[in-house]
Order: sequence, then C-alpha cells, then structure tokens
Amino acid sequence: MEQEEIVMPLHEYECTKCGERFELRRSIADRDAEYKCPKCGDEQPRRLCSVFGMVMSARPEFSNSGPT
Ligand SMILES: [Zn+2]
Repeated sequence: MEQEEIVMPLHEYECTKCGERFELRRSIADRDAEYKCPKCGDEQPRRLCSVFGMVMSARPEFSNSGPT
C-alpha cells in the first residue's frame, strides 16, 4: 500500500501563460503525458521538477499513514 507513494510521485508544473503552479500525481511512465493548466487550460505548462523526494517529509497529508 505504501508502495503507491513511490510509484505515483508528485510533479510540479508552472503554467507559462498565467503563472499558475499546480501539482499532479503521475506515474513515472505518465509524467510526460498530456496535461493542462487547471486555471487557463493551457496545454504546455512547464514542468518544474518532481517533488517526489519531498513527499514524505514536507507533505504528510499524502502519506496516508496517519491515525484514522
Ligand atoms: Zn494557465
């Protein structure tokens, strides 16, 4: 189950049109697939980087290992 965090890393994008920054969870294989800016719909946002390495430490809400 926790393996899903590894195969679906977050990728961060910045729209070159409106400057919107957003994150998408993509598998490694799909990271270059089509994606759009959620704000203006521009189809070629710039990929900033994969924040995969930061997911565990900086984004605990994605780790799903908390108490529930
Ligand atoms: Zn945009």
